[in-house]
Amino acid sequence: MDAPKQTILIVDDTPTNIEILSETLGGTYEILFATNGPEALNIAFDQSPDLILLDVMMPEMDGYAVCKQLKQDARTRGIPIIFVTALDQEDDETKGLGLGAIDYVTKPIRPAIVQARVRNHLELKRYHDFLETLSATDGLTGIANRRRFDECLAIEWRRARRNQTPLSLILLDIDMFKAYNDHYGHLAGDDCLRQLARTLSQCAQRSSDLVARYGGEEFACLLPDTALDGAAQVAERIRTNLNSLNIPHAFSPVADYVTVSLGVATMIPLAGQPLFDLIRRADECLYIAKRNGRNQIKSGAEEVV
Ligand code: GH3
Ligand code: MG
Ligand code: MG
Repeated sequence: MDAPKQTILIVDDTPTNIEILSETLGGTYEILFATNGPEALNIAFDQSPDLILLDVMMPEMDGYAVCKQLKQDARTRGIPIIFVTALDQEDDETKGLGLGAIDYVTKPIRPAIVQARVRNHLELKRYHDFLETLSATDGLTGIANRRRFDECLAIEWRRARRNQTPLSLILLDIDMFKAYNDHYGHLAGDDCLRQLARTLSQCAQRSSDLVARYGGEEFACLLPDTALDGAAQVAERIRTNLNSLNIPHAFSPVADYVTVSLGVATMIPLAGQPLFDLIRRADECLYIAKRNGRNQIKSGAEEVV
């Protein structure tokens, strides 16, 4: 399958310039455009283009100001920016590059040069995106890895504290998985982990939900803006959907198929509260679910002892 077309945002207050650049680059890339700074920022935040061609001289908000804002925001910091301008003074070039732009082309544009520079920067961007995805993904199951989970948890914890909204966490662990590996072999064990990961992705449906491999045969679901009863429903869906896959486990005292135990915790973070509290509470619940017989959910509404 071909890689999807990369997207370029062209920003210029003169429509003719946008047309010329679109003709130069259209076909090979998806083109978005904006005729002023604020519009450019909105599109960049909303659509995360792969590259921005940015005019310097625009009324009200010039290209330097746009560049500065894009580089200050985590969502757009990684987008390469090429300044396109009639200015050809060395000082302007230095200023643009100093603000974090990756390159600089001057008007009137020479199509072959613009095409070549854009192609080079977009190749680097694709490679960078690939590495970024790789470093956040669990190799076995294809879902988020522990590193990505930790990053998201920190972001969502801060957001929940700021907005005073509930943040829920489900921690789950396969029951008697050592016996499964011992009897069916590690390859079958790996396959079981993949099936569970797929089930988790199907059960946590909101775009803000994150499912991750927390470690070995332990998984986590982070559910922003979700109260305890909602999180318990997701947990129950995970438990029953996995049970209905009916993966044989003849060596489990719990059932003759693979089961999981789940701990659910919800918090509206207090100022100064460490995010570790949420993990600890979910983990304590998971431990109780195990102790009480496995293949069940324990949620943290009641006092955890
Ligand atoms: P419990 O019900 O108390 O959770 O018992 P358990 O046997 O599941 O727990 P334990 O922690 O004793 O064993 C976990 C096992 O998970 C050990 C290891 O064989 C298996 N495991 C961990 N990571 C992987 C993996 O990547 N692939 C496979 N195949 N097995 C793994
Ligand atoms: Mg286990
Ligand atoms: Mg375990």
